[in-house]
Amino acid sequence: MRNLVLVLGDQLNQDSAAFDGFDQRQDAVWMAEVAEEATHVWCHKLRIALFFSAMRHFRDELAARGCRIHYTEMPERPELDRGRDFATVLHKDLLALTPQKLILVQPGDFRVLQSIRRLATEMAAVLELRPDRHFYCDTAEFAEYAAGKKQLILENFYRRLRKKHSLLISANGKPAGGAWNFDRQNRHRFSEKQLHAIPRPASFLPDAITRQVLELVSKRFRDHPGSLEHFNLPVTRDQALAMLSHFIESGLPQFGPYQDAMWMDEPFLFHSRLSSSLNLKLIDPRECVEAAVSAYAAGAAPIESVEGFVRQILGWREFIRGVYWHFMPGYADLNHLDHQLDLPSFYWDGRTNLHCFQQTLRHVLRHAYSHHIERLMVVGLFSLLFGCHPKQFHEWHMAMYADAIDWVSLPNTLGMSQYGDGGLVGTKPYCATGNYINRMSNYCGRCRYDHRQAAGDAACPFTTLYWDFLDGRQEWLKNNRRMQIQLQNLADKRHDAKAFLEIKRRAEQLRRNWSEILVDD
Ligand code: SF4
Repeated sequence: MRNLVLVLGDQLNQDSAAFDGFDQRQDAVWMAEVAEEATHVWCHKLRIALFFSAMRHFRDELAARGCRIHYTEMPERPELDRGRDFATVLHKDLLALTPQKLILVQPGDFRVLQSIRRLATEMAAVLELRPDRHFYCDTAEFAEYAAGKKQLILENFYRRLRKKHSLLISANGKPAGGAWNFDRQNRHRFSEKQLHAIPRPASFLPDAITRQVLELVSKRFRDHPGSLEHFNLPVTRDQALAMLSHFIESGLPQFGPYQDAMWMDEPFLFHSRLSSSLNLKLIDPRECVEAAVSAYAAGAAPIESVEGFVRQILGWREFIRGVYWHFMPGYADLNHLDHQLDLPSFYWDGRTNLHCFQQTLRHVLRHAYSHHIERLMVVGLFSLLFGCHPKQFHEWHMAMYADAIDWVSLPNTLGMSQYGDGGLVGTKPYCATGNYINRMSNYCGRCRYDHRQAAGDAACPFTTLYWDFLDGRQEWLKNNRRMQIQLQNLADKRHDAKAFLEIKRRAEQLRRNWSEILVDD
């Protein structure tokens, strides 16, 4: 054998650099389902099933093209495993196959890269690491952009890519629609009157391969969180393309105005749900961006929707991937605010009286998904205000979301959501009282707590913890220009020392006795 091409579960792209120069007579592909990837964090059943099903479909597509494949399927019984992790299984296969060279496209997880590199060194195997062409911005370009900067600002990075790739740029060189962003038009409240406009979610019912995987996962990982009942995500490139078309036609026009809205029992609203397909590389970000830009050119979607979608993919997604590789491995251990508490148990089962949290977890447990505002401004916000360890929050997110890969999860959770990196990816902590959740959702009306109250038994824990969070972190935040209004509000609040003491007391009680106070029996 000449080359053995290693394909990981989030590299399901036949156009990837891994296949450059692939010769079916001399080369082969290697793929493996291993327990370590499903258990290093306590993975949601649906997340495991998505990876295995998409991998098996990809294997069959390659085989249909005539590729030789060495694929390890996970058995139902752990004692029959060929090895717990990639390195063990690959070690066995290398002894048998003796390829001249291993080829790997840069993986999405530093841990996996290290483990494959270590094995190659131990076995004196030649490992060729190829760049991941899936992204608009490669790691070298990002490093050049980041060089010498004290702070990395998404907006600058995003505009640079918009210009470089001539996306939503008018003939006169100005941004389409006359502005670089349409934030104000992207924060509309949703209301009951608009419920009829929510499109039916695209749904891909399990075929024979997926059904087999679902059965395997339900038996082998029966104690893992989440359910498999609602599995309907794309597991092939064709399905991912169909999901994109469905979004462009039925979700994109309303996506912009309501992208920050949350609504009971409506997990998807107008969101594309393309993130898992993108992150498994079933679909290319250029296909998504170009489809949205074409819809704008054809008058089928307004600028505030198209720009908001393009910003998420061309801007934020590329930005955080750059941050990940630029700052790893040290980034994973940052904890700027020195938060040390464990995540409360209701992160895994949703059994809490916080109605917003309960709703979000309902979405997560059913679909291994909730949209970005529920991630940032409900579960993320609670972790930040409560004082949970940022790495634990990242690991929880890695476990519970079908679209989570280390490169995307870590900067989003530890960085943006928990401010653990001290402002490398976000210019200020995303902190708010329950009033924000009330403004953007219909959750508070059905909650036993009052989003306006900060002290007393009926006080909204978000509101209580917000004031306590600000109070306890003034030193960290006082030099942040964007936090000055909040700190001034805090100073005003503290004028009533007795009332403020009640807030502090309630916050302390919440942290100490969260199980008694929050879990609904
Ligand atoms: Fe969430 Fe507070 Fe609103 Fe209840 S009152 S839903 S806890 S924000």
